[in-house]
Amino acid sequence: MKSFLILLIPLVAGNYNILEILESNIDDNIDPCDDFYRHVCAKNRKDVPTWLDYMEGEYAKELEKLARESVSGELIELYKAIERLGSQGLSDGFEKRLSKLYFEKCESNKTEAYEFLRTLERLFDIKENGECYGFYCFSNLALDSNCSRAAKTLKRGVLLPTYVMYLKKSYHFGNVSKVWKNGLSSLWVVKHRDEVKQIVDMFQFFKKELLNEIEKTPWLLNSNTMEIFKNITSQMRISLPEEKIEKTIVNIKNAKIKYDECLNNFKILGEDYLSEACIILAVPEIEDYNLAMVNAQNAHPYVIIHNTFLALLADKGSIALKYGTVGSALAHEMGHSIIVRDLTDGFYPYYSEKINPCIQNQFNKTCSIYKEADCVVTDKQLDDNGSDVFGFPFAFERLKQIMGDEVYQKIPESTRDLTHAKAFFHLVYGIGCRRNDVAPIIGDIFHGTNNIRINAGVIQSPEFEKSFQLLEK
Ligand SMILES: [Zn+2]
Repeated sequence: MKSFLILLIPLVAGNYNILEILESNIDDNIDPCDDFYRHVCAKNRKDVPTWLDYMEGEYAKELEKLARESVSGELIELYKAIERLGSQGLSDGFEKRLSKLYFEKCESNKTEAYEFLRTLERLFDIKENGECYGFYCFSNLALDSNCSRAAKTLKRGVLLPTYVMYLKKSYHFGNVSKVWKNGLSSLWVVKHRDEVKQIVDMFQFFKKELLNEIEKTPWLLNSNTMEIFKNITSQMRISLPEEKIEKTIVNIKNAKIKYDECLNNFKILGEDYLSEACIILAVPEIEDYNLAMVNAQNAHPYVIIHNTFLALLADKGSIALKYGTVGSALAHEMGHSIIVRDLTDGFYPYYSEKINPCIQNQFNKTCSIYKEADCVVTDKQLDDNGSDVFGFPFAFERLKQIMGDEVYQKIPESTRDLTHAKAFFHLVYGIGCRRNDVAPIIGDIFHGTNNIRINAGVIQSPEFEKSFQLLEK
């Protein structure tokens, strides 16, 4: 199952004001007709948060709050420790600490020292059929009356099984982290049923209208591809990662029980060593749910809208603000299903070959005009570029369907005389806003750079021209 990602940004939750962020990011020194991206995404406004900054911060805060409300502090601590172990690996020197502990016991109490080594063998479960070999027969070291030599040997011997144990589990650390975060996102969904309903309604509306548009497209009829496009569209489903919470919390709770048992059973080994070893033993083997970790993606037939994105639907202002952000992303993702489907590295021959030069030339031209960093338009981006060209105007048409000509009127709360239509276009692009010159605007093999997507994706559309009165200039 191949996934297509839109902008790789987590989005905000909570009560915030889309219009306010939008307006504070505008750069009046740059004419929207010269460089719309930089007009919407001011380089010099370091004093105000970009969408990215704002959303990341606010969403993280809300998740943290939900975690504290719903899950015990101990569980959160364990999760954080798992996450740390997954990202940084084992801490340095654990084998030294263990070796030192053995040395002390060996010097003071031979029976305890032997018990210590036996426990260590049990921890690693290294005996096969009751036998152990070489360095890994830790309990044999008790036969050595030279405690210093035995401790040194232990230090070497313990390193390998610990790493083996770690490596065996390291895959699961990543999954625990993903599943945990999705679990918390699910907590968010439970609290935001209204936004979930809004996205489901929006999706159904878009799907119905897309089928209508297909019916009205002569080219599809003439090329006998109408039925194919209708079928593809009919297959589309919306997917929300909302029902995973129970499983996630149960998994982490079970891990906590195992972890505590481990600490208790092996406490002779010394706690600071044990905390890592027991985490490794306790980490649940959580399956990868393959959920969206970005704001939206297409995994046909599923259009996946991550619930972090849904937060934007809580905005109480103009509906144009929701359509510019979530609506444009939703339409973009739906576009992935119909513009081109990437099938084993090839394209459906129905549409793509014909739209290829049209879309790619538009992006290539934009690339040479607005180049800020690397700017490459590749064949693999056709899918995404096409989804921009399809999705953004499609979402705007839906907005117009709801608002009628009011869409060209000023938003009452705007301090800058923004019309609903202008705000829509600002948001489509402002959401990918990055201040920085280079890294943040670099695309990848499937996505163009943000400024190119912005400047190429929509400004040719008649609605953009109308909204910004470019024709009059
Ligand atoms: Zn995309």
